[in-house]
Amino acid sequence: MSASNAVRAVYPAADERIYVTQPYLPPLREFIPYLEKIWNSKTLTNGGPFHQQLEKALCDYLGVEHIALFANGTLALVTALQALRVTGEVITTPYTFVATAHSLLWNGIKPVFVDIDPDTLNLDPSKIEAAITPQTTAIMPVHCYGRPCNVEAIQKIADNYNLKVIYDAAHAFGVQRDGSSVLRWGDLAVLSFHATKVFNTFEGGAIVCPDARTKQRIDHLKNFGFVDEVTVVAPGINGKMSEVNAAFGMLQLQHIDRALERRKEIDRLYRTLLADVKGVRCLNPEEDSTNRSYFPILVEPDYPISRDALYQHLRDENIHARRYFYPLVSDFPMYRGLPSANASNLPNAKAAASKVLCLPIYPDLADDDVHRIVNCIDL
Ligand SMILES: *Cc1c(COP(=O)(O)O)cnc(C)c1O
Repeated sequence: MSASNAVRAVYPAADERIYVTQPYLPPLREFIPYLEKIWNSKTLTNGGPFHQQLEKALCDYLGVEHIALFANGTLALVTALQALRVTGEVITTPYTFVATAHSLLWNGIKPVFVDIDPDTLNLDPSKIEAAITPQTTAIMPVHCYGRPCNVEAIQKIADNYNLKVIYDAAHAFGVQRDGSSVLRWGDLAVLSFHATKVFNTFEGGAIVCPDARTKQRIDHLKNFGFVDEVTVVAPGINGKMSEVNAAFGMLQLQHIDRALERRKEIDRLYRTLLADVKGVRCLNPEEDSTNRSYFPILVEPDYPISRDALYQHLRDENIHARRYFYPLVSDFPMYRGLPSANASNLPNAKAAASKVLCLPIYPDLADDDVHRIVNCIDL
Protein backbone atom coordinates (compact mmCIF):
# COMPACT_ATOMS: atom_id res chain seq x y z
CA MET A 1 0.00 0.00 0.00
CA SER A 2 1.37 3.40 -0.94
CA ALA A 3 1.72 6.15 1.62
CA SER A 4 -1.23 8.09 0.24
CA ASN A 5 -3.45 5.02 0.35
CA ALA A 6 -2.46 4.52 3.95
CA VAL A 7 -3.53 8.06 4.66
CA ARG A 8 -6.89 7.51 2.95
CA ALA A 9 -7.41 4.40 5.02
CA VAL A 10 -6.98 6.41 8.20
CA TYR A 11 -9.19 9.31 7.07
CA PRO A 12 -12.02 7.72 5.11
CA ALA A 13 -14.15 10.88 4.81
CA ALA A 14 -11.72 12.42 2.31
CA ASP A 15 -14.43 13.18 -0.24
CA GLU A 16 -16.68 15.04 2.17
CA ARG A 17 -16.71 18.79 1.60
CA ILE A 18 -15.48 20.92 4.48
CA TYR A 19 -16.19 24.66 4.54
CA VAL A 20 -14.26 27.28 6.47
CA THR A 21 -17.17 27.42 8.88
CA GLN A 22 -20.53 25.85 9.54
CA PRO A 23 -23.16 27.64 11.59
CA TYR A 24 -23.85 26.23 15.02
CA LEU A 25 -27.47 25.03 15.24
CA PRO A 26 -29.00 23.53 18.40
CA PRO A 27 -31.40 20.57 18.00
CA LEU A 28 -34.49 21.81 16.13
CA ARG A 29 -36.93 20.43 18.71
CA GLU A 30 -35.45 22.75 21.31
CA PHE A 31 -36.53 25.75 19.25
CA ILE A 32 -40.21 24.73 18.88
CA PRO A 33 -41.35 25.96 22.34
CA TYR A 34 -39.89 29.39 21.55
CA LEU A 35 -41.85 29.54 18.31
CA GLU A 36 -45.03 28.51 20.12
CA LYS A 37 -44.59 31.46 22.46
CA ILE A 38 -44.24 33.84 19.52
CA TRP A 39 -47.31 32.35 17.81
CA ASN A 40 -49.32 32.72 21.03
CA SER A 41 -48.26 36.29 21.73
CA LYS A 42 -48.44 37.40 18.08
CA THR A 43 -45.60 39.78 18.88
CA LEU A 44 -43.18 39.41 16.00
CA THR A 45 -40.92 42.43 16.40
CA ASN A 46 -40.72 46.03 17.76
CA GLY A 47 -38.89 45.25 20.99
CA GLY A 48 -41.05 42.31 22.08
CA PRO A 49 -40.41 39.99 25.05
CA PHE A 50 -37.60 37.92 23.46
CA HIS A 51 -35.85 41.10 22.28
CA GLN A 52 -35.90 42.42 25.85
CA GLN A 53 -34.85 39.08 27.32
CA LEU A 54 -31.92 38.70 24.93
CA GLU A 55 -30.61 42.21 25.58
CA LYS A 56 -30.60 41.49 29.30
CA ALA A 57 -29.21 37.96 28.94
CA LEU A 58 -26.37 39.14 26.69
CA CYS A 59 -25.44 41.92 29.12
CA ASP A 60 -25.17 39.29 31.86
CA TYR A 61 -23.31 36.74 29.71
CA LEU A 62 -20.85 39.20 28.20
CA GLY A 63 -20.42 41.34 31.31
CA VAL A 64 -21.36 44.68 29.76
CA GLU A 65 -23.72 47.51 30.82
CA HIS A 66 -26.06 48.01 27.86
CA ILE A 67 -26.82 46.26 24.59
CA ALA A 68 -29.02 47.35 21.69
CA LEU A 69 -29.90 44.47 19.36
CA PHE A 70 -29.92 44.92 15.59
CA ALA A 71 -31.06 43.06 12.48
CA ASN A 72 -27.40 42.66 11.49
CA GLY A 73 -23.95 43.95 12.33
CA THR A 74 -23.67 46.32 9.39
CA LEU A 75 -26.76 48.32 10.38
CA ALA A 76 -25.35 48.39 13.90
CA LEU A 77 -22.06 49.88 12.60
CA VAL A 78 -23.91 52.48 10.50
CA THR A 79 -26.08 53.40 13.49
CA ALA A 80 -23.16 53.51 15.95
CA LEU A 81 -21.53 56.22 13.83
CA GLN A 82 -24.82 58.15 13.71
CA ALA A 83 -25.35 57.80 17.45
CA LEU A 84 -22.03 59.53 18.16
CA ARG A 85 -22.54 62.03 15.29
CA VAL A 86 -19.23 61.03 13.74
CA THR A 87 -18.33 63.07 10.63
CA GLY A 88 -15.32 64.00 8.49
CA GLU A 89 -12.54 61.40 8.55
CA VAL A 90 -12.28 58.14 10.49
CA ILE A 91 -9.11 56.11 10.91
CA THR A 92 -9.59 52.41 10.28
CA THR A 93 -7.89 49.20 9.16
CA PRO A 94 -7.83 47.83 5.61
CA TYR A 95 -7.43 44.29 6.98
CA THR A 96 -11.09 43.51 7.68
CA PHE A 97 -14.42 42.61 6.13
CA VAL A 98 -15.74 45.31 3.77
CA ALA A 99 -18.64 46.25 6.07
CA THR A 100 -16.25 48.14 8.38
CA ALA A 101 -15.38 50.73 5.74
CA HIS A 102 -18.78 50.57 4.03
CA SER A 103 -20.41 51.79 7.25
CA LEU A 104 -18.28 54.94 6.94
CA LEU A 105 -19.26 55.57 3.31
CA TRP A 106 -22.94 55.10 4.20
CA ASN A 107 -22.48 58.00 6.62
CA GLY A 108 -20.62 60.20 4.14
CA ILE A 109 -17.43 59.75 6.14
CA LYS A 110 -13.98 59.45 4.54
CA PRO A 111 -12.10 56.32 5.62
CA VAL A 112 -8.40 56.82 6.34
CA PHE A 113 -6.54 53.51 6.24
CA VAL A 114 -3.69 52.89 8.66
CA ASP A 115 -1.42 49.84 8.55
CA ILE A 116 -1.65 46.83 10.84
CA ASP A 117 0.80 45.30 13.28
CA PRO A 118 2.38 42.27 11.54
CA ASP A 119 2.13 40.10 14.68
CA THR A 120 -1.45 40.76 15.76
CA LEU A 121 -2.87 41.85 12.36
CA ASN A 122 -4.77 44.58 14.24
CA LEU A 123 -4.49 48.34 13.64
CA ASP A 124 -0.99 49.46 14.66
CA PRO A 125 -1.43 52.20 17.29
CA SER A 126 2.03 53.61 16.58
CA LYS A 127 0.91 54.56 13.05
CA ILE A 128 -2.36 56.27 14.02
CA GLU A 129 -1.09 59.70 15.06
CA ALA A 130 0.53 60.42 11.68
CA ALA A 131 -2.86 59.90 10.00
CA ILE A 132 -4.78 62.36 12.18
CA THR A 133 -5.91 65.60 10.48
CA PRO A 134 -8.20 68.45 11.62
CA GLN A 135 -11.07 66.47 10.01
CA THR A 136 -10.47 63.31 12.05
CA THR A 137 -13.28 62.64 14.51
CA ALA A 138 -12.98 58.95 15.35
CA ILE A 139 -11.02 55.69 15.15
CA MET A 140 -12.70 52.46 14.06
CA PRO A 141 -10.43 49.52 14.85
CA VAL A 142 -11.34 45.83 14.43
CA HIS A 143 -10.57 43.05 16.92
CA CYS A 144 -9.43 40.91 14.01
CA TYR A 145 -10.19 37.17 14.39
CA GLY A 146 -11.42 37.99 17.91
CA ARG A 147 -7.93 38.90 19.10
CA PRO A 148 -8.09 42.12 21.16
CA CYS A 149 -6.58 45.31 19.77
CA ASN A 150 -4.07 47.25 21.82
CA VAL A 151 -6.99 49.02 23.46
CA GLU A 152 -4.97 51.06 25.98
CA ALA A 153 -2.74 52.62 23.33
CA ILE A 154 -5.71 53.39 21.10
CA GLN A 155 -7.65 54.99 23.95
CA LYS A 156 -4.64 57.11 24.90
CA ILE A 157 -4.44 58.57 21.39
CA ALA A 158 -8.21 59.10 21.33
CA ASP A 159 -8.04 60.94 24.66
CA ASN A 160 -5.13 63.12 23.53
CA TYR A 161 -6.85 64.14 20.29
CA ASN A 162 -10.44 64.09 21.57
CA LEU A 163 -11.51 61.35 19.15
CA LYS A 164 -14.31 58.80 19.52
CA VAL A 165 -13.48 55.10 19.33
CA ILE A 166 -15.95 52.63 17.82
CA TYR A 167 -14.75 49.04 17.80
CA ASP A 168 -15.90 46.74 15.05
CA ALA A 169 -16.11 43.78 17.43
CA ALA A 170 -17.88 41.51 14.94
CA HIS A 171 -15.35 38.75 15.69
CA ALA A 172 -15.06 39.37 19.42
CA PHE A 173 -18.11 37.75 21.02
CA GLY A 174 -17.21 36.62 24.54
CA VAL A 175 -13.61 37.80 24.34
CA GLN A 176 -12.14 38.86 27.67
CA ARG A 177 -9.06 40.86 28.46
CA ASP A 178 -7.54 41.00 31.95
CA GLY A 179 -10.70 39.39 33.30
CA SER A 180 -13.25 41.75 31.74
CA SER A 181 -15.02 41.98 28.40
CA VAL A 182 -13.04 43.60 25.60
CA LEU A 183 -16.42 45.00 24.49
CA ARG A 184 -16.22 47.48 27.37
CA TRP A 185 -13.47 49.36 25.53
CA GLY A 186 -14.15 52.31 23.26
CA ASP A 187 -17.18 54.59 23.18
CA LEU A 188 -19.13 51.83 21.46
CA ALA A 189 -18.46 48.26 20.30
CA VAL A 190 -20.39 46.51 17.55
CA LEU A 191 -21.11 42.77 17.38
CA SER A 192 -22.33 40.62 14.50
CA PHE A 193 -24.49 37.54 15.02
CA HIS A 194 -24.35 36.51 11.35
CA ALA A 195 -24.60 32.78 10.58
CA THR A 196 -20.81 32.59 10.12
CA LYS A 197 -19.97 34.12 13.49
CA VAL A 198 -19.22 32.40 16.80
CA PHE A 199 -22.65 33.28 18.22
CA ASN A 200 -25.35 33.43 15.56
CA THR A 201 -29.01 34.42 15.43
CA PHE A 202 -29.19 33.57 11.66
CA GLU A 203 -28.69 37.31 11.01
CA GLY A 204 -28.20 39.77 13.82
CA GLY A 205 -25.97 42.28 15.51
CA ALA A 206 -25.69 44.58 18.49
CA ILE A 207 -24.17 47.77 19.83
CA VAL A 208 -22.56 47.55 23.25
CA CYS A 209 -22.62 50.88 25.05
CA PRO A 210 -21.61 52.09 28.48
CA ASP A 211 -24.48 54.41 29.41
CA ALA A 212 -28.28 54.37 29.34
CA ARG A 213 -28.53 57.72 27.56
CA THR A 214 -26.55 56.56 24.52
CA LYS A 215 -28.50 53.30 24.49
CA GLN A 216 -31.72 55.31 24.36
CA ARG A 217 -30.48 57.34 21.38
CA ILE A 218 -29.45 54.12 19.62
CA ASP A 219 -32.88 52.62 20.33
CA HIS A 220 -34.52 55.64 18.68
CA LEU A 221 -32.17 55.48 15.70
CA LYS A 222 -32.84 51.79 15.02
CA ASN A 223 -36.60 52.44 14.98
CA PHE A 224 -36.95 55.28 12.41
CA GLY A 225 -36.15 57.89 15.07
CA PHE A 226 -39.44 57.32 16.91
CA VAL A 227 -39.47 58.39 20.56
CA ASP A 228 -43.23 57.85 20.94
CA GLU A 229 -46.26 57.50 18.71
CA VAL A 230 -46.11 61.09 17.45
CA THR A 231 -42.46 62.12 17.93
CA VAL A 232 -39.63 61.47 15.47
CA VAL A 233 -36.29 62.97 16.51
CA ALA A 234 -33.85 61.72 13.85
CA PRO A 235 -33.79 60.18 10.36
CA GLY A 236 -33.48 56.71 11.89
CA ILE A 237 -33.33 53.42 10.07
CA ASN A 238 -35.21 50.17 10.53
CA GLY A 239 -32.49 48.17 12.28
CA LYS A 240 -34.54 46.19 14.78
CA MET A 241 -33.96 42.50 15.51
CA SER A 242 -37.12 40.39 15.11
CA GLU A 243 -38.57 38.14 17.80
CA VAL A 244 -37.62 34.95 15.92
CA ASN A 245 -33.96 35.97 15.83
CA ALA A 246 -34.01 37.10 19.47
CA ALA A 247 -35.69 33.86 20.59
CA PHE A 248 -33.08 31.87 18.70
CA GLY A 249 -30.39 33.90 20.46
CA MET A 250 -31.84 32.91 23.84
CA LEU A 251 -31.58 29.25 22.81
CA GLN A 252 -28.05 29.70 21.41
CA LEU A 253 -26.90 31.17 24.73
CA GLN A 254 -27.62 27.80 26.36
CA HIS A 255 -25.16 26.13 23.99
CA ILE A 256 -22.49 28.77 23.55
CA ASP A 257 -20.12 27.65 26.32
CA ARG A 258 -19.83 24.16 24.87
CA ALA A 259 -19.41 25.56 21.37
CA LEU A 260 -16.56 27.82 22.52
CA GLU A 261 -14.93 24.95 24.40
CA ARG A 262 -14.93 22.80 21.25
CA ARG A 263 -13.33 25.63 19.26
CA LYS A 264 -10.57 25.77 21.85
CA GLU A 265 -9.90 22.03 21.42
CA ILE A 266 -9.72 22.37 17.64
CA ASP A 267 -7.38 25.36 17.92
CA ARG A 268 -5.11 23.32 20.18
CA LEU A 269 -5.13 20.32 17.83
CA TYR A 270 -4.26 22.46 14.79
CA ARG A 271 -1.34 24.01 16.65
CA THR A 272 0.01 20.63 17.70
CA LEU A 273 -0.29 19.12 14.23
CA LEU A 274 1.02 22.19 12.38
CA ALA A 275 4.00 22.74 14.70
CA ASP A 276 6.31 20.70 12.46
CA VAL A 277 5.04 21.90 9.10
CA LYS A 278 7.76 24.07 7.61
CA GLY A 279 6.68 27.42 6.20
CA VAL A 280 3.33 27.53 7.97
CA ARG A 281 3.03 30.01 10.82
CA CYS A 282 0.16 30.18 13.28
CA LEU A 283 -0.57 33.45 15.06
CA ASN A 284 0.62 33.48 18.67
CA PRO A 285 -1.48 31.23 20.89
CA GLU A 286 -4.42 33.19 22.21
CA GLU A 287 -5.21 33.88 25.82
CA ASP A 288 -7.58 31.37 27.35
CA SER A 289 -10.34 33.96 27.31
CA THR A 290 -10.50 34.49 23.54
CA ASN A 291 -12.98 32.79 21.26
CA ARG A 292 -11.11 31.03 18.40
CA SER A 293 -13.54 32.43 15.88
CA TYR A 294 -11.04 31.80 13.06
CA PHE A 295 -7.90 29.74 12.57
CA PRO A 296 -5.63 31.82 10.31
CA ILE A 297 -2.29 30.47 9.15
CA LEU A 298 0.38 32.51 7.39
CA VAL A 299 1.98 30.75 4.42
CA GLU A 300 5.60 31.95 4.51
CA PRO A 301 8.15 31.97 1.64
CA ASP A 302 9.79 28.73 2.85
CA TYR A 303 6.57 26.76 2.31
CA PRO A 304 6.93 24.58 -0.83
CA ILE A 305 4.09 26.27 -2.78
CA SER A 306 2.40 29.69 -2.79
CA ARG A 307 -0.56 30.60 -0.57
CA ASP A 308 -2.86 30.61 -3.60
CA ALA A 309 -1.56 27.23 -4.76
CA LEU A 310 -2.23 25.82 -1.29
CA TYR A 311 -5.73 27.36 -1.33
CA GLN A 312 -6.38 25.62 -4.67
CA HIS A 313 -4.81 22.35 -3.53
CA LEU A 314 -7.16 22.29 -0.52
CA ARG A 315 -10.15 23.03 -2.76
CA ASP A 316 -9.16 20.13 -4.98
CA GLU A 317 -9.31 18.03 -1.82
CA ASN A 318 -12.80 19.41 -1.07
CA ILE A 319 -11.55 21.63 1.73
CA HIS A 320 -12.79 25.21 1.39
CA ALA A 321 -10.36 27.38 3.34
CA ARG A 322 -10.75 31.15 2.85
CA ARG A 323 -8.31 33.99 2.25
CA TYR A 324 -9.66 36.32 4.96
CA PHE A 325 -8.73 39.14 4.35
CA TYR A 326 -7.79 39.21 0.71
CA PRO A 327 -8.20 41.46 -1.20
CA LEU A 328 -7.67 44.29 1.28
CA VAL A 329 -10.66 46.60 1.67
CA SER A 330 -8.42 49.43 0.43
CA ASP A 331 -8.08 47.62 -2.92
CA PHE A 332 -11.80 47.64 -3.74
CA PRO A 333 -12.89 50.20 -6.37
CA MET A 334 -14.72 52.54 -3.97
CA TYR A 335 -11.60 52.87 -1.76
CA ARG A 336 -8.53 52.42 -3.94
CA GLY A 337 -8.44 56.08 -5.04
CA LEU A 338 -7.96 57.31 -1.47
CA PRO A 339 -4.40 58.49 -0.70
CA SER A 340 -4.33 56.24 2.39
CA ALA A 341 -5.20 53.20 0.22
CA ASN A 342 -1.79 53.34 -1.47
CA ALA A 343 0.12 50.07 -1.08
CA SER A 344 3.20 51.93 0.18
CA ASN A 345 1.13 53.13 3.15
CA LEU A 346 0.03 49.60 4.06
CA PRO A 347 2.99 47.20 3.70
CA ASN A 348 2.06 44.94 6.63
CA ALA A 349 -1.56 44.66 5.55
CA LYS A 350 -0.43 43.86 1.99
CA ALA A 351 1.92 41.16 3.25
CA ALA A 352 -0.72 39.61 5.51
CA ALA A 353 -3.32 39.59 2.73
CA SER A 354 -0.92 37.69 0.50
CA LYS A 355 0.01 35.07 3.12
CA VAL A 356 -3.11 34.37 5.13
CA LEU A 357 -5.38 31.37 4.85
CA CYS A 358 -8.19 30.72 7.33
CA LEU A 359 -8.61 27.01 8.00
CA PRO A 360 -11.97 25.45 8.84
CA ILE A 361 -12.96 25.80 12.48
CA TYR A 362 -16.44 25.27 13.95
CA PRO A 363 -17.91 23.25 16.82
CA ASP A 364 -19.03 20.28 14.69
CA LEU A 365 -15.63 19.87 13.00
CA ALA A 366 -14.30 16.43 14.01
CA ASP A 367 -10.72 15.70 15.09
CA ASP A 368 -10.48 13.41 12.04
CA ASP A 369 -11.34 16.38 9.82
CA VAL A 370 -8.53 18.44 11.39
CA HIS A 371 -6.12 15.56 10.76
CA ARG A 372 -7.30 15.34 7.15
CA ILE A 373 -6.85 19.11 6.62
CA VAL A 374 -3.36 19.21 8.13
CA ASN A 375 -2.44 16.12 6.16
CA CYS A 376 -3.27 18.02 2.97
CA ILE A 377 -1.20 21.01 4.09
CA ASP A 378 1.83 18.89 5.06
CA LEU A 379 3.17 18.46 1.54
C1 LIG B 1 -19.36 39.92 9.72
C2 LIG B 1 -18.67 41.24 9.85
C3 LIG B 1 -19.38 42.45 9.75
C4 LIG B 1 -20.79 42.54 9.29
O1 LIG B 1 -21.70 41.91 10.08
P1 LIG B 1 -23.11 41.46 9.45
O2 LIG B 1 -23.86 40.97 10.66
O3 LIG B 1 -22.83 40.36 8.47
O4 LIG B 1 -23.75 42.65 8.83
C5 LIG B 1 -18.68 43.62 10.01
N1 LIG B 1 -17.37 43.62 10.31
C6 LIG B 1 -16.66 42.48 10.36
C7 LIG B 1 -15.21 42.56 10.72
C8 LIG B 1 -17.28 41.25 10.12
O5 LIG B 1 -16.56 40.13 10.14
